[in-house]
Amino acid sequence: MKKLLITAVLVFAAVNFTSCRAAQKEKPQIYASFFVMYDFALQIAGANADVYCIVPSGAGAHNFEPTPQDMAAVSEADIFFYSDSVMEPWAGNVADAAQNTPAVSLSEGLYEENADPHVWLNPNYALKMMEVILVKLISADPDNTDSYIENYNIASEKIDALNQSYIDAQLSGKTILCYHAAYTHLCDEYGMTQKSVEETGNSAEVSASKIAETIEFINENEIKYIFAAPYGYAGAVDVITRETAAKRLELNPCEILDEKSRADGADYFSIMYANLENLKTGAQYTASGA
Ligand SMILES: [Zn+2]
Repeated sequence: MKKLLITAVLVFAAVNFTSCRAAQKEKPQIYASFFVMYDFALQIAGANADVYCIVPSGAGAHNFEPTPQDMAAVSEADIFFYSDSVMEPWAGNVADAAQNTPAVSLSEGLYEENADPHVWLNPNYALKMMEVILVKLISADPDNTDSYIENYNIASEKIDALNQSYIDAQLSGKTILCYHAAYTHLCDEYGMTQKSVEETGNSAEVSASKIAETIEFINENEIKYIFAAPYGYAGAVDVITRETAAKRLELNPCEILDEKSRADGADYFSIMYANLENLKTGAQYTASGA
């Protein structure tokens, strides 16, 4: 009888010890480079992980300069998600400084090297990026596998609906004139052509001759709208809209989110639906077909 009692006490202690450890277990600490990487990580992680965005609200994703504090925070994290070294040239420095934290590129293999790095603007690529996040979260935190899969399935259904809405909008054959050269993958998926003021998608300086060429294109093709993100580029876009009949219309590449939009619950899906409404207005057939 005494032996039985001791066994019972030992079993109780073991159970108690286990549950105590479970209660103390920290959530995975996930860092993402800029807004849409953060948003995708959050869509899959839900409440099971703490997800942080390195580029703060309002700052640019391409030319960001991480602080020593950013490097230190990522070195304590479980995973660092970023798009790739073309999109965020600074992400490699973060990955190098945080050698013990797995750095995961979400767009690796999705597009040709040195082409337009804004792959997530094609919703089907966005889902592939979330697939990579799913696999990495499950390996970092297998206890919550079911929850991560459920979150992925919800996101996948939302992607299907978004994709169908873009298909239903019948944008094929139309041209968009945009400032930031970010929409190649979106245009390729839905049969549109991008004509951009920037030469490349990495926010290089725009020359006076490129602005003059854009003004000529607008006039020749009677372009009614120039698409620009809700932030930045004011100077060059203002010159173009002043010199032509084209009006500025918002097209958001999901790189930057301000505090208010974040507080209002804006995410990849709400931004992409807003983009679609503006594309229905501003994408148009052109005389030159480009
Ligand atoms: Zn960009």
